[in-house]
Amino acid sequence: MGIYLYIDVDAFFTSVEQSINRSLMGRPVMVGGLKHERGVVACPSYEARARGVRTGTPLCEAARLIPDGVFLKGDFHRFQAYSDRFFEILYRYSPDLQRISQDEACLDITGAIRPFGGARQLGESLQQEIWERLALSTSIGIAPSRVASKIASEYKKPMGLTLLEPGDLHNFFARLPVRKIPGVGLTTEKILHEMGIRTAGQLAAIPEQYLKTVFGINGLKIAAYSRGEDGIPLRDHKAIRSVSRETGFADDITDSSVLLSHFYYLLERAARKLRTLSKKSTTVRIKFRYADFQTIEAAGRINPASNDQNSIFPVVRSMFLRTFTRRQGIRLVGVTLAGLKNYIDNQTFLDDRIEKGRRLLQGLDYARQKAGFFAVTTGRTFSLSSRYKRGDTGYELRTPGLSQ
Ligand SMILES: [Mg+2]
Repeated sequence: MGIYLYIDVDAFFTSVEQSINRSLMGRPVMVGGLKHERGVVACPSYEARARGVRTGTPLCEAARLIPDGVFLKGDFHRFQAYSDRFFEILYRYSPDLQRISQDEACLDITGAIRPFGGARQLGESLQQEIWERLALSTSIGIAPSRVASKIASEYKKPMGLTLLEPGDLHNFFARLPVRKIPGVGLTTEKILHEMGIRTAGQLAAIPEQYLKTVFGINGLKIAAYSRGEDGIPLRDHKAIRSVSRETGFADDITDSSVLLSHFYYLLERAARKLRTLSKKSTTVRIKFRYADFQTIEAAGRINPASNDQNSIFPVVRSMFLRTFTRRQGIRLVGVTLAGLKNYIDNQTFLDDRIEKGRRLLQGLDYARQKAGFFAVTTGRTFSLSSRYKRGDTGYELRTPGLSQ
């Protein structure tokens, strides 16, 4: 049985700002924007959380709750620089590391414990070193599975260290609220509650096949998680050959600039997916369907391979403008990124411009992961805001299953 350590920097953006400017330590600091700006708090410090501000609280509301609060825009380059240093330290503890985000990782420490005398001592030493060298506080979970280590890392924050021995797992999960299980969001929680299931222990007692009937493949995943097991990886990333996003419209659209906004939005979603898979694409395909169901498809090359929507979009735009020739409304549009290639995300020797773009995208993905899609809205898709409702993960398009 392996031993895993999950580590998460507490209030990462804010902690970095406090690390750089120590006079901010202990104060209610909020990263996301200035007091008078539109938008939301991307990361409140623990002092700000204690006064009622959460990730996603509108800035104006946060300013009302904490008039003496410190509001910062935040600097993605600094965050990335700290993230790099954070991972340098982690790699020294175990090279067998799964990067979850800029400030979160899961390490297989099975073979690394011995010199420290125990898993807890290793965890304490790591936590201490990150505090001394970066002035970042972290929360750590150590457990016999990856999923249990992640849940344990959330058990006590900030600066927590929770160790679960194999013999502790049963009791820990027996009383764990289902919402703490990765993969159980608000909707799943609600359904489980309606079924009378409130804890992971109760969930683990339900037959897997039944959960599969109710929740599909996600049911099998949460069944394994509820027992503290990692389960079978559900999707082999290597097997993915393309990523597509498409949506239909309630009313046919003829305005090409509105159609291009949709293409950009779908491309943005697909490109983000590629980034999470550490892949780049060499081919982009578009399709659109006229009101009379004639479907047009076109493909273009992306050279060099990319997962950056801004460098791919010109290809999409010119393909669309070239092929949208009839004076007819359009009922559906879609984008596919194909010809996928793996790439290693350490190309720090590239020229500055590419490097800057890459880091901005990482920052963008991170802010959206933390604060929802609308933490950052780009000009190109802003025009969609009059058409669609804003959900947590993006615009609620008419075909939501395909819009993620
Ligand atoms: Mg964190």
